[in-house]
Amino acid sequence: MDCFAVLAMSSVFSINGETRAMTGFNENTTTERPTFVTHLECSMTGKRYQADRLHGLSEAGKPLLVRYDLDGVAAALSKEELATRPWDMWRYRELLPVRRAENIVSLGEPVTPLVALPACARELGVGEILVKDESRLPTGSFKARGLALAVAMAKELGVTRMAMPTNGNAGAALAAYASRCGIESFVFCPDDTPDVNVREIALQGAKVWKVNGLINDCGKIVGDGKDAMGWFDISTLKEPYRIEGKKTMGLELAEQLGWETPDAIFYPTGGGTGLIGMWKAFAELENIGWIGPRRPHMVAVQAAGCAPIVRAWEQGAEHAELWEGAHTVAAGIRVPVAIGDFLILRAVRDSAGYALAAPDEEIVAAQAEVARRDGLLMGPEGATTFAALRRAAQKGLVGKTSRVVLFNCGTALKYPMPAVSRTLDRHQPIDWAALAGA
Ligand SMILES: *Cc1c(COP(=O)(O)O)cnc(C)c1O
Repeated sequence: MDCFAVLAMSSVFSINGETRAMTGFNENTTTERPTFVTHLECSMTGKRYQADRLHGLSEAGKPLLVRYDLDGVAAALSKEELATRPWDMWRYRELLPVRRAENIVSLGEPVTPLVALPACARELGVGEILVKDESRLPTGSFKARGLALAVAMAKELGVTRMAMPTNGNAGAALAAYASRCGIESFVFCPDDTPDVNVREIALQGAKVWKVNGLINDCGKIVGDGKDAMGWFDISTLKEPYRIEGKKTMGLELAEQLGWETPDAIFYPTGGGTGLIGMWKAFAELENIGWIGPRRPHMVAVQAAGCAPIVRAWEQGAEHAELWEGAHTVAAGIRVPVAIGDFLILRAVRDSAGYALAAPDEEIVAAQAEVARRDGLLMGPEGATTFAALRRAAQKGLVGKTSRVVLFNCGTALKYPMPAVSRTLDRHQPIDWAALAGA
């Protein structure tokens, strides 16, 4: 047998001189793996709940967290074995709750790249800025991570109908994943949600309504309709599994940085699932011995027009109060009240992090600046983290040796962009000098 035949049979390939084996592009979603969920736990009281049962909030009305036999995980999986798996979100199956491979619902969730912003880093005087670019996930936002897990678990636990309030991206992800596995979905958006989101949701098979209110008003409709409609409420943090999906951001980040964490993580915070999820990821990774005790400063970033978490952090409060008259171009973080507020605030405080708000003018300017300097078009929420980083750099909170990770959570292409008015008449002589000077 020649060496090509041997290579083809075993699917061995090499990255940076390291030999890796791969049995197929969809290996992570089709191979059975041992699972280690032991129970669920109330994030407020610590009360235990049985795994493998359908749960919403705890009896205390607080989010439930999934707990694992982490010694079991450590014994079953090594960093070396993990390194041989295909590069998608499902490579971390031992740290995820789905019991059987047949219940995984996937549209191809890549490990998202870390994109450096060298020109912006020089401009701000920050050591290194890396953007975790979540816009590359299915439906164009990191909501895909949470909803892929939540829908898979709903499927595993026999749910056939679900509902949620959304500012757009979560509804799009729910619609896509629910349709993919035959679950009926009902979605309620504020009536000023960009049309492209609403249309995307409808096209992906959900029943969608525009509501004359904000996301919390839409959430009330979902809550009120439970008995009449028999749907499962898949709102942010009102079921236990979206956090587990968002947790993969922390797992990926640590693995991409060679099992290190950065100095700071700037996270555009709405409901805070991702911030809470990453904080949980780091704790689990330390527990299985893959990272040390060092943690990044977790920075909760909000828009000045809707900043309940920033206000609570500044006041030293444990919970945030409803933000009246919420308004911002960063629709994904227009969340006036977050049920996981105390978990966000805890992670920020325990990490010696902070909370910062940026006004819309700075968000819009930040989006243009990053795109012009480094060629990366961030959504307005992602741009909010850059605006906040500029403020943090000015205050001396980050400096010349800091490695900072910003989250670009969704694609900019679903939002209105500044108009372009220049036209050119091809029948007239072209003024090349004017073109060059434009
Ligand atoms: C939902 C969303 C956020 C906020 O995410 P949370 O984890 O709920 O705080 C940020 N940016 C975009 C683009 C979103 O869709």
